[in-house]
Amino acid sequence: MTVSPPHVDPFDLVIFGGTGDLALRKLLPALFHRFVDGQVPAASRIIGVAREGLDDAGYRGLVRDVLADGGGASEQIDAFLPQLYYLPLDARKDEGWDTFAALVNEQPEHIRVFYLSTSPELFVDICNRLGANGLNGPNSRVVLEKPIGRDLASAMGIIEAVGRVFSEAQTFRIDHYLGKETVQNLLALRFGNALFEPLWNAGHIDHVQITVAETLGLGRRAGYYDRAGALRDMVQNHMLQLLCMVAMEPPASLSPDAVRDEKLKVLHALKPIDMRNSAQLTVRGQYKAGAIDGERVPGYLEELDDGQSSTETFVALKAEIANWRWAGVPFYLRTGKRLSARLSEIVVAFKSVPHSIFDATAGPLAQNRLVLRLQPDEGVKLWLTIKHPGPGGLRLRHVPLDMSFAEAFGVQQPDAYERLLLDVVRGNPTLFMRRDEVEAAWRWIDPILAAWGGAGELPRPYAAGSWGPSAAVALIERDGRTWNEDSE
Ligand code: NAP
Repeated sequence: MTVSPPHVDPFDLVIFGGTGDLALRKLLPALFHRFVDGQVPAASRIIGVAREGLDDAGYRGLVRDVLADGGGASEQIDAFLPQLYYLPLDARKDEGWDTFAALVNEQPEHIRVFYLSTSPELFVDICNRLGANGLNGPNSRVVLEKPIGRDLASAMGIIEAVGRVFSEAQTFRIDHYLGKETVQNLLALRFGNALFEPLWNAGHIDHVQITVAETLGLGRRAGYYDRAGALRDMVQNHMLQLLCMVAMEPPASLSPDAVRDEKLKVLHALKPIDMRNSAQLTVRGQYKAGAIDGERVPGYLEELDDGQSSTETFVALKAEIANWRWAGVPFYLRTGKRLSARLSEIVVAFKSVPHSIFDATAGPLAQNRLVLRLQPDEGVKLWLTIKHPGPGGLRLRHVPLDMSFAEAFGVQQPDAYERLLLDVVRGNPTLFMRRDEVEAAWRWIDPILAAWGGAGELPRPYAAGSWGPSAAVALIERDGRTWNEDSE
């Protein structure tokens, strides 16, 4: 059965940084796909803004190439492009903003979305100029990309400055992991089935693992990444958000604040990691040269201009949530660049049966594991123990109930940005981070950064193409557990 997509009112979406990597690789393809599904009404405009001196035709040509490379049908691309406009503008200078305001004001009734797909150093300048030009009216919304700050103090500086121009209800802090189909499915699995929720606690869950592994190295983002590192780039936002979605109490409804209130409580309940325990609970790594898919790849330092850095490209840590539901249940998080596979998944490992009635010939009993795969091949697997078919005694096997969403529904899953962009247009902030969530996440991260800084230790080396430093394996094996092998 095909379900027709819900109606969307005409909107103007301005992409500051409209020629950048994120805009061309993610935002414009996402808008194109929504256009193809009839969710970009004809009067809507998408306005790219950057300093480069392009005109509308030049911008449309640039976007055409990107969409064609992505496999878009040429007649659909031709139909989409007339809705694109471009205005050269420097966010740091006053010139040109009156022309920009006049362009936006041509459609006073439209919902206005200002998507800040630029370096965060520009966020405050852009918001101030939007405000000075009267573009922060009630039908305006601003979208802030990560990273919001590099610690609590800088995050609060940005949040407060933006907050002087746009209200909290107008501010959408995007974390695209929350738009992923599997993360949505976590809500459906947990709260749409009677099966899991009674078991979703320390009485029945042994531990949780969250892995976000990339095979790529630095690419074009070297300057930003070397100032950030894996903890700031991945853990503070995406991984803590995933942890919250797993660990939160059932919200009373799916209203934006009901969900975000519950996530915030999880962040507040995280046990501190600081200079007293960070050596036991965290592992930092940095990749050296190695091989991925049989190809030699350079080490991190070789990818940097000056060849020097103590930035971590890998982090593994053991977090605990100090509340009744989760006391004593470790949440193991690991993320890194140049790892063995590109993979993001959440593994919920249930406790073993309390007593085995099987004899030694049956084979070992394994834990039930619920594996939520975010990428690639979004889907859910539930590992169960069953009897090996046929005669030969009661031999046990561990097999997954396996649901790949693409196979189950026969459709390509929409990219997270497609859903999130339309959520902004519709004014639904459920899947966006509220100010207090961002602050609480930094409040937990800051002492880890301080502990690492205080210890002055270099990150541990790992070979590109491996699963990170051996200390990351030791972190979980010390507790008698292993990283999910199905993923490796
Ligand atoms: P990028 O490729 O470097 O693009 C930056 C964009 O900003 C360009 O269009 C650039 O064009 C424009 N820009 C720079 N200075 C400007 C100024 N003074 N006034 C107006 N425009 C200016 O960066 P990106 O990778 O797209 O990332 C954008 C933001 O998204 C960053 O905060 C990044 O951390 C975040 N992010 C990126 C990704 C990703 O996959 N790329 C993922 C998550 C988050 P001109 O130089 O012509 O002005």
